[in-house]
Amino acid sequence: MGTVTSTDLTIDQLADWLRRFAGIVEQNKSYLTDLDSAIGDADHGANMARGTAAVVSHLDEANTVDALLKKAGMTLVSTVGGTSGPLYGTLLMKMGMATGNVTQLSTAEFARAFRAGLDGLIARGKTELGDKTMVDALAPALDALDASVADGAQWPDAAAAAAAAAAAGRDATTPLIARKGRASYLGERSIGHMDPGAASSTYLFDALVEVLG
Ligand SMILES: [Mg+2]
Repeated sequence: MGTVTSTDLTIDQLADWLRRFAGIVEQNKSYLTDLDSAIGDADHGANMARGTAAVVSHLDEANTVDALLKKAGMTLVSTVGGTSGPLYGTLLMKMGMATGNVTQLSTAEFARAFRAGLDGLIARGKTELGDKTMVDALAPALDALDASVADGAQWPDAAAAAAAAAAAGRDATTPLIARKGRASYLGERSIGHMDPGAASSTYLFDALVEVLG
């Protein structure tokens, strides 16, 4: 175990990240359901609130970063219905598999693990940028995080840049035609509605800003 510096996220901070993500989801449960009722089946808020609450109930069981993230991912797969559970679950499980048996992550290590998670999500969802999905928020956020790392920026600035990019990506889903999931059945009628999964995805970065702020 190396020395903890201000650039590292400890396992306690990562657990706090997941706890705050659950809190933001809970606060926005009705909003997410409203978004999903417009172009989906109106269950995204309830599903995510149930799943993230289950994640919180297991946070104290892990002693390493990989175990923490893998457990969180498996919990989301088993408790969140629809397509969101497997996609969020894959994101966190693949992220955990990429970190190894450690108790802290540097900014660069966090970004690298998140990239592995996003690659896994994209493979699982067979989704690409512009399909009006979670990827439209997550991919630009991670690109911003990578750019911060390349520039030598540290937390919390790197998290703030990622959160801003996630929000911009989320907002950019509104004019798109959905090409994946239930919303794709609506075709052009999906235009003018924000993607619920992109909306909930931004909360991952809002939660990171809260942890580091
Ligand atoms: Mg739904």
